[in-house]
Amino acid sequence: MHDPLVYLNGEFTPLSEAKVPVLDRGFIFGDGVYEVIPIYGGKMFRAKQHMARLFRSLAAIGIPNPYSEDEWMALIGKVTDACPDDTQLVYMQVTRGVAKRAHAFPAEVKPTVFIMTNPYTPPDAEAVNNGVRCVTTEDLRWMRCDIKSVSLLGNVLAAQHAAENGALEAIQFREGFLSEGASSNVWIVRDGTVYGPPKDNRVLEGIRYGLLQELCAACRIPFALKAIARDEVFAADEVLLTSAGREVLAVVSIDGLPVNGGKPGPLFGKLYAAYQDAKRA
Ligand code: PMP
Repeated sequence: MHDPLVYLNGEFTPLSEAKVPVLDRGFIFGDGVYEVIPIYGGKMFRAKQHMARLFRSLAAIGIPNPYSEDEWMALIGKVTDACPDDTQLVYMQVTRGVAKRAHAFPAEVKPTVFIMTNPYTPPDAEAVNNGVRCVTTEDLRWMRCDIKSVSLLGNVLAAQHAAENGALEAIQFREGFLSEGASSNVWIVRDGTVYGPPKDNRVLEGIRYGLLQELCAACRIPFALKAIARDEVFAADEVLLTSAGREVLAVVSIDGLPVNGGKPGPLFGKLYAAYQDAKRA
């Protein structure tokens, strides 16, 4: 069996041997945060932005950052260098640590740090050329979706709803307004402008928020953030989703209703091409 090298609390070990005590607060409370960074051609893509978000997530829940950015990079590099593939998704997780079960923060506790990587295949030609199906669902999550927390039950249930309905992603709405996918950000195109939901506590600010804005600027496509009502999503000229693993994809049907006649639209085409250029840059 493929048994990649991982990092856990100071040790590099095969994944099959990496073990966390059951009293780890990640296991008991979902008390931790994580990050996922793509690697193309052996190089981390947008690493600075991903690390900054990890540090923000840690600070937001009061877990001391155990390492400097250079130390993080060295640890991640050791794990990713051990993987023969030059396209990977590296995953890192920090939990508050192991302590007697009690909700409030323990007085003395050492964060649990875990890093693993997996070979990664970007979306295939079928997904890129034909687009993907989505379904909608009420956003059942908490009010700090801006923190990249490992407490992902709401996202898990949304993703399962999509899976059970033959869809790639569940598009979530909170009180009638678009928030995001179960594990992606969602965008609409209207009259030549790309719109996304405001960066607030209702969404995770994907690293592709900044990237998409840059790609739009490069393609001379107007870009704006605003509250997006459910009707506007169904009436959109195009709908896009972005994430580290899915890059940018065109949504061609939502709840069985076609978007842009069921085909990826022209702005998607431009932004997809610009995304591929950014990966090579
Ligand atoms: N929202 C959620 C809930 C996610 O899990 C992800 C994936 N990390 C995103 C948005 C997209 O973020 P990114 O562009 O950084 O992958």
